[in-house]
Parts: sequence; structure tokens; C-alpha cells
Amino acid sequence: MSLDFDVFVVDPKPIPSAVPGFEEATWPPSTSTLISDDDGALLVDCLITEREGRELAAWVKSHGCELGYVYITHPHADHFLGLPEILAAFPAAKPVALAESIPAMKEQISPGYLRVWGGFFPGQLTARPVPPVALAGTTVPVGGSAAAVIPVGTTDTGHSSVVHVPGLSLVVSGDVVYNRTHMWLSGSTPDSRASWARALDAVAALEADTLIAGHRDPQAADDDARRQIGECRRYIADFEAALERSSAPAELIDRMMAAYPDVANPYTLWVAAYDLLGTRT
Ligand SMILES: [Zn+2]
Repeated sequence: MSLDFDVFVVDPKPIPSAVPGFEEATWPPSTSTLISDDDGALLVDCLITEREGRELAAWVKSHGCELGYVYITHPHADHFLGLPEILAAFPAAKPVALAESIPAMKEQISPGYLRVWGGFFPGQLTARPVPPVALAGTTVPVGGSAAAVIPVGTTDTGHSSVVHVPGLSLVVSGDVVYNRTHMWLSGSTPDSRASWARALDAVAALEADTLIAGHRDPQAADDDARRQIGECRRYIADFEAALERSSAPAELIDRMMAAYPDVANPYTLWVAAYDLLGTRT
């Protein structure tokens, strides 16, 4: 088995709706990526519910490789609350993340934040969350080779990063690039959206062919990096323009849904619209 990768996929999950007029709210479809060679493996992000963590651990075991590291791309709990289940199955695996992202990760698993996350997934989350530890340097071992970690700043949250494996022409993007899934722009500002656009440029500069997005529409045609980066650039620009012209959530939603009728998890757009324009109605 030479250097290779595989993707574990989780479908959208029902969650309680927090916006008027949207009954069947869902958490976006999510992925976790295993990169491996003959001597070991790296798992990038590890999902949120205990059940997902267990299923992901069993899936990693089924590959027959020794998991050396788990890298967490950014401080959102839906990418690392599954960690205790992974570490239970692979006690020798080291969970790591960018040093500057660790305080925000610890905040995500503070009692207050855990109550918020638990509201989305009642009874489904670990009671003993584990934060990753600071990565020394900017590479993570993959058995005998290594993956590069590229910090890209603020995207849908601060201290985001992607994992680059030149030998596979592969980027694993966390939330920096979405694959045909509405992008999380709730809480965004003109500055954060501009930062996200710059982050997309940084990912494009890696010139990878394949990109595995942390949130990927199960119906997405492929994992083509250039297509996804282009679509995300356009989505942010279109959102910016539609937001500028809208004075109420429904206007922004209508404009974006007209432009993106088939993109996965529209609830994400509703949340952004009510967050950014809800008080102006
Ligand atoms: Zn995410």
C-alpha cells in the first residue's frame, strides 16, 4: 500500500430549527479523510457525534493501518467532538492542531459551548471531549512521509487551515472550501468574507487536482479542486452582492436560492440571513 487516501462520508443530520419558516433543518453533510502509506496513517477531522466517531474508528480499522495522527483543521466542534471515540480505538494516535487554534478549540468544549452543541444533537455527544495538542512545525507525519499544514486565517471561523499532500495532488480543506454545500456565513463580516476569499486564493496556489471538502454534497459530481475553489469564490461574491441589496432575510434567501437552487443544506443560508438581517426587519 503506497501513499493513498479515502473519505468517510456522513449524510445531513436533522437538527432543531432556529429560524422561522424552515421546518426540516439539517446539519450539513460532512467528511473525514484518511491519508495513509505503508507505515502509518493520518486522519483529518473526526466528526461530531459519538456514533459517528465510533463508525469512523471502525472504518479506519477496516483499512488495516496504524493511525499515528489526527489533525483538526479548525476550531469548530463538529470537526473534533468525535475524537474520544477515535482515541479509544487508537490509543497511540496523537491529536494535533495549529497551536494558535487550540484556545478556540478549548472554548468550543467549555460547558457553555457544549450546551449549545448539545442543543443541536441532544444525547448524542461525548461527555468527555478532548482537545488536540499544539502541532510542532507545519507538517504532520503520514507513516514514512508527511502532509503539510497550511494556515489560512479566518474563513468560516478563525485560525483555519488546510492539509496539503503534494504526492497525491490532494488538499483536505476542512471548512475553507465547501463542495456544493451552502457556506457558513452566519456571523460573517465584510472583513471575514474578504479573508475567506484570500484563503481560497492560498488554496488555489497549491495547484492540487483533488480537494476533499469538510462539507460535501453527497450528490456532488466530483472532488475537482479548481471547480470547488471557483464555486466558493463565486458564492462569497454573490452573497456579498445579495446582502448589499437586501434589507430582510427573505430577500437575501430568495436571491441566493435563485442563484444556487441545487446546493446542499439550504438551512445554512437561512441561518446566515436571519443572523445578518434579522434585526432589520
Ligand atoms: Zn464545519
